[in-house]
Amino acid sequence: MIDGGPIFACRFPSAPAAWCTIAARHETPTPYSEQEATLNLVIFDIDGTLIESTAVDDACFLRAAEEVLDVRSPDADWANYPHCSDTGLVSELLRRYAGREARAEDIEQFRRRFLALLEDAVGTQPSLFGPIPGIHRLLELLAQRDDIAVALATGGFEVTARAKLEWANLPLRAHPAAFSEDGPSRESIVTAAVRRAGEAYGRTDFDRIISIGDGVWDVRTAASLGVGFVGRANAEDAGRLRRAGAEVVIADYLDEPEVLRTILAARAPDPRA
Ligand SMILES: [Mg+2]
Repeated sequence: MIDGGPIFACRFPSAPAAWCTIAARHETPTPYSEQEATLNLVIFDIDGTLIESTAVDDACFLRAAEEVLDVRSPDADWANYPHCSDTGLVSELLRRYAGREARAEDIEQFRRRFLALLEDAVGTQPSLFGPIPGIHRLLELLAQRDDIAVALATGGFEVTARAKLEWANLPLRAHPAAFSEDGPSRESIVTAAVRRAGEAYGRTDFDRIISIGDGVWDVRTAASLGVGFVGRANAEDAGRLRRAGAEVVIADYLDEPEVLRTILAARAPDPRA
């Protein structure tokens, strides 16, 4: 286990200084035989990125907010909230609509009810958590590559995120992952995913880090961390990601070789967008 704090010498000009402190170790050129092999880290969001789950997720989330928090019909555009993670949203909903701070028991009760509602939904309609087309084949392709590591970074609670991966039959149980519990900010969650991937792969740095997500908050997070970004959105939502700074937005993963090229070439979003 690597202690918290800076552990990565990220090779992006705009990467936060916190990730670059071990760069000093590389000031003396490393003999070729001692150099680490190339390893790129691809970090997937879950809802709307791996799984077509955003609609049912939002519906269950809003119902849990009504039942557990007594918050009815709030602004449901999560891009308008400071932290788009389950913990961050519950806290902000209580702040805005109930005028108080969230307590640990609020989060726990909400998490339990939200999971139960998701379980009810999938029990009624198992197809609700369908994988985005092509993702199974793309994950197989990525697993065959020695130069690519895969991790997960989601704003969802760990228990609900893992349930969704099971329902979508995605083989990602053992991959490094970070959840709402690592937040509330998406930056904290992605940074935790990078740290866990470093531990899992025995690396102190990655040649490139690319995040793939479907939310405006995913674009903003990639811009603020200075990591490459690929948007995943249907045609009607792609414009939203592009306006937020995403250079590349794909609808699905069906053309796996082309998607892989796109991922490896992805650049960080413009933070001024
Ligand atoms: Mg998402």
